[in-house]
Amino acid sequence: MIIHILTLFPEVFEPVFNSSILKRAQEKGLVQIKLYNLRDWAIDKHGTVDDRPYGGGAGMILKVEPIYQAVKDIKNEAQNKRLKTFLLSPRGKTFNQTLAQKLSGLEEILLICGHYEGFDERIRQFVDGEISIGDYVLTGGEIAAMAITDAIIRLIPGVLKKPEATQKESFSKVDKKAFLEYPQYTRPENFQNLSVPRILLSGNHKKITLWQKYQAQKITKKNRPDLLKK
Ligand code: SAM
Repeated sequence: MIIHILTLFPEVFEPVFNSSILKRAQEKGLVQIKLYNLRDWAIDKHGTVDDRPYGGGAGMILKVEPIYQAVKDIKNEAQNKRLKTFLLSPRGKTFNQTLAQKLSGLEEILLICGHYEGFDERIRQFVDGEISIGDYVLTGGEIAAMAITDAIIRLIPGVLKKPEATQKESFSKVDKKAFLEYPQYTRPENFQNLSVPRILLSGNHKKITLWQKYQAQKITKKNRPDLLKK
């Protein structure tokens, strides 16, 4: 898979993308991440990419021309001509594990990070979709792009050593319902009078699986009852 990211701050991605599982996924050739600086498509030699909003209002708006031209050039350069393009915006479809699964099945995507007060509305005519990472407003799309990229990459077959890790965790679907993960423990068996549930030490895998299912339901009901209604 190839993930293209268009941003005004390519340097902020380096530590996240060059560590741990994301780094190994790239080294193994399972994913390629390409960062582009929107300033390279500025409309003048001063590097202008933003301007004041028509009708007044606080803050600056990212101009349509640099983003339009950048998207066009990245599409032309793309290996897969069906490259899907997404604006990152609080107005977008809310990102979740189901969307992460869908996106991880695509061959090539472009994530476009906004900044300041966001995008000139007209750029929406030239992209395939709009994604939000939640009902709050960030300074820029970079953190959203990192979160989405991370969630997608760990779902690509071969990235995690044990593929079942992504099938038995929070939000994975069991009988079309998503549950939160059950409690997990590691050594020591006892810590400040808090013991590991005895069932997990029993060696009875059937009983352990039943216990885990029950716990997952209990935690989901308590913390995210909305998941059980869907
Ligand atoms: N004025 C915009 C609004 O009210 O919808 C918010 C602009 S925000 C300060 C600047 C940029 O951060 C956005 O263009 C977007 O790219 C990114 N951003 C902010 N919150 C986001 C979210 N929840 N999900 C995805 N991107 C977000």
